[in-house]
Amino acid sequence: MPTPIVADNLTVPRSEPASDKQNLIGLSRDAMRDALIAAGTKEKQAKMRVGQIWGWIYQKGVSDFADMTNLAKDYRAMLSEHFTVSRPEVVTKQVSADGTRKYLLRINGGHEVETVYIPETDRGTLCISSQVGCTLTCSFCHTGTQKLVRNLTPAEIVGQILIARDDLEEWDTPPGDKRKISNIVLMGMGEPLYNFENVRDAMLIAMDPEGISLSRRRITLSTSGVVPEIERAGREIGCMIAISFHATDDATRDQLVPINKRWNINALLQALRDYPRLSNSERITFEYVMLKGVNDTDADAHRLVNLIRGIPAKINLIPFNPWPGAPYERSSNNRIHAFGDIVNAAGYASPIRKPRGEDIMAACGQLKSETERGRREKVR
Ligand code: SAH
Ligand code: SF4
Repeated sequence: MPTPIVADNLTVPRSEPASDKQNLIGLSRDAMRDALIAAGTKEKQAKMRVGQIWGWIYQKGVSDFADMTNLAKDYRAMLSEHFTVSRPEVVTKQVSADGTRKYLLRINGGHEVETVYIPETDRGTLCISSQVGCTLTCSFCHTGTQKLVRNLTPAEIVGQILIARDDLEEWDTPPGDKRKISNIVLMGMGEPLYNFENVRDAMLIAMDPEGISLSRRRITLSTSGVVPEIERAGREIGCMIAISFHATDDATRDQLVPINKRWNINALLQALRDYPRLSNSERITFEYVMLKGVNDTDADAHRLVNLIRGIPAKINLIPFNPWPGAPYERSSNNRIHAFGDIVNAAGYASPIRKPRGEDIMAACGQLKSETERGRREKVR
């Protein structure tokens, strides 16, 4: 396998040092309006100023107030006195032989999270994190072996998108397929529905026409099954939903996705049947990790289609991505195809997800911040 590139000579700007000024990135429209008024902006003008500043921050990628040239000089000076526009710090960028890029980012407190960019022929997907670590302990997931350190703020969630756009030199591009980042998936580190408000506020900025301006259909939130928050996600965020299903009976799902002990398969399926946005054009994605000898039999495939009957759905089969010490193996290609054929014959699309960026440990479920791990190993 060709060796991946580790780039230290980054072209991406580093973040400003921590400061007591308020960061404007990640503030909702209302919050920014209030902050601008508190800093002396006239109430009548505040709404317009928010639109102008959003344009600079989210569409042009500007982080220096001096570059916000449609604002008066003394207004820019006022802004820089009270506020910053700061991103997380890029620690390393790795580029896989297949073009996948992984960014290791440092956030306040010295914690680290990872963001992955996956270029494909018809789209480019940015996989972002919502937490440092995870409270859940799915047994096949590398992040699940790292304790939850903390939730990411809206600024840190949106900041991941801005950093990738800096690196890909994608500013001022109209929305759509042609963008290098045409899609966002909340499939990095963490359980997004356990950081609901921050994820929501960040995604509202990602979808806003004056923000990053991505269609809500191009954003997918993946959850392990936090049942009470699923309906709320439909209502308050409105993006596409993916469910980490992974097993067709409660005993197996209890082992793989322990949140199943709290909300079992039946409860989860009921929440999906009640999902406000369910329709044939807005199907739910069921993610199903293929683990050799654990959940990959023909009987599992038949049970799966019986369980989800009536739910407009697509089944995404994910070949297991190994990590050091993982207690599972990937199902064989033949097994994955045979499983997919059964699901397909029942009328469901069942694409097999191609592992990307494996040489840089960037594939699904392989993320875990090195320094947190290193630190804990040292302590031990
Ligand atoms: N916490 C959320 C989102 C992050 S994980 C969730 O669990 O849905 C994104 C997807 O990768 C989930 O479907 C997860 O189950 C899957 N995944 C985790 N570890 C994996 C691994 N080692 N190989 C393949 N997929 C994995
Ligand atoms: Fe957390 Fe998702 Fe990994 Fe489970 S699969 S441990 S919910 S990140």
